[in-house]
Amino acid sequence: MNIADSEVVASILSPYYKISDSQQEADLILLNTCSVRDNAEQRIRKRLRELASLKKKNKNLLIGLLGCMAERIKEQLLTEEKALDFIAGPDAYRTLPRLIEDASIGKVSFNVHLSDKETYDDIEPVRYDSNGVSAFIAIMRGCNNYCAYCVVPYTRGRERSRDPQTIIEEAQNLFHKGFREVTLLGQNVNSYLWKSAEHSMDFADLTEKIAQISPLLRVRYATSHPKDISDKLLLIMAKYPNVCHYIHLPVQSGSNAMLKKMNRVYTREYYLERIGKIKEILPDCAVSTDVIAGFCGETEQDHQDTLSLMKTVGYEYAFMFKYSVREGTAAANKYADDIPEELKIKRLEEIIALQQQLSLQSNKRDVGKTFTVLIEGISKRSDQQLFGRNSQNKVCVFPKKNHQIGDYVEVKITKCTAGTLIGEAIF
Ligand code: SAH
Ligand code: SF4
Repeated sequence: MNIADSEVVASILSPYYKISDSQQEADLILLNTCSVRDNAEQRIRKRLRELASLKKKNKNLLIGLLGCMAERIKEQLLTEEKALDFIAGPDAYRTLPRLIEDASIGKVSFNVHLSDKETYDDIEPVRYDSNGVSAFIAIMRGCNNYCAYCVVPYTRGRERSRDPQTIIEEAQNLFHKGFREVTLLGQNVNSYLWKSAEHSMDFADLTEKIAQISPLLRVRYATSHPKDISDKLLLIMAKYPNVCHYIHLPVQSGSNAMLKKMNRVYTREYYLERIGKIKEILPDCAVSTDVIAGFCGETEQDHQDTLSLMKTVGYEYAFMFKYSVREGTAAANKYADDIPEELKIKRLEEIIALQQQLSLQSNKRDVGKTFTVLIEGISKRSDQQLFGRNSQNKVCVFPKKNHQIGDYVEVKITKCTAGTLIGEAIF
C-alpha cells in the first residue's frame, strides 16, 4: 500500500518537483511511513536523525513525513523531530503543495485529517520505481475490521472502495503502456464493494472486469481476509487463466482462543474449510499467510496450534512477526502484553524454521514441472540470468536467451532453494 501511496504522492507533486536519484541534491525528502509494528516506527526515527545532517548542507531542504505514523503521532512528532518540516496523513496528500509552501516559509504545517471518502480515484499514479512490467493499483482504502492488535483502522480510517470505472481505466492504460501484471491492493480487498444508482460491483466482479482487459494481463490481489474469501471469487480465478493462482490469506494464529481474542471473527475450522475450498477449485493454487507470535496470553498449546495449522495448510510463504503493542488498539487497552520477549523470539524462530521447511518442500514438488513465467528483470546475482514469477508468485530464475523483459516464457524447473525455483527456458 505504501508504494501505491508514494506513486499517488509523486503524481500530485509532479507539477512542482522532479524525482531525484540523489538525496544530496534533493530539495524535498518525503518519508512514507508504516505504524503496523513498532520497529517500523523506530527505523523512521533513526532515518530522521540521519537526514538532519543534510539540512546543515542544504538550507532549502524540506523534510516531510507521510502515512500512518504521521497519523498516529501527529504534532508530537514535529516538536520531537527537529529535522521534520511538515506531516501529512494518508488522506491528506492532495494538500501537500500547500503544506510544503507553508513549511517553506517556516509555518507549522500538518494535515492528518482522515476522510471517509478519499480514494484518489482521479489521480494517475507516477510509477517512478517500476520495472515497467508489474504495477500496483489501490482499489480501496482503510479498514473496518478492528483486529485487536492492529493500528490500521485508526491510522488509515474507514474502509472505502474506489469507483470501478477508474480502476478499469488505470489497468487498461497500464496494459497499453506495456505493463503485463497488475496487483489490486487494499487492506481487505475481498470486501470491496461499489454501489451506484445503476449497479453494484463486488471484488469478484471487479476481478473479472480486469481479467477481461487482455489474456496477456496478469491479475493479482492482496490482501484477503479469510472471512470474505468467497466461492464466487475462487470460481472467477478458475475461469480466467490470467488471474494468478496465488492467495495471501493471513491466518495470524492457529488457536481458536487467540483468534477470538484477536477479533479475527473466524475459527481454525472455518479457515481450514476455506483452504479446502481453494484447493478443490484451484488445485495448483499457492497460499501464503501472516502469523503473529506471542500475542497476549498465548500458551504453549496455542503456539503449537499455530505450528500444526501451518503444517496442515503447507503454506508456500509466510510473513512472520512477533507481537508488538500498538497504543490505542483494543489489545493495548484490554490485555496484558504478558509473553516475555525471549519467549516471543523463541516462538517466532520456531515458526520461521517451520516455514523454511514448508517453502522448501513446496518448491521441491515443483522440480520437473513447467511454468509460464512473466519476465520481470535481470537476476541480481548474474546478468546472464533472468527472473520472473509464475502464476503461484514463486520467483523463477533461468539463463537468458533471446527474451525481453515483459515476455512470457515457459520455464522447466530443474532445481530449487527455499526461496527460488531455478530452471531452463523452453521454446
Ligand atoms: N490487512 C491485512 C494486513 C495488515 S498489516 C490483513 O488483515 O491481513 C500486516 C500484518 O502485520 C498483519 O497481517 C499482522 O500479521 C501484522 N501485524 C499487525 N499488527 C501487528 C502487531 N501489533 N504486532 C505484530 N504484528 C502485527
Ligand atoms: Fe489490521 Fe485486521 Fe484490518 Fe488487516 S483486517 S488491516 S490486520 S484491522
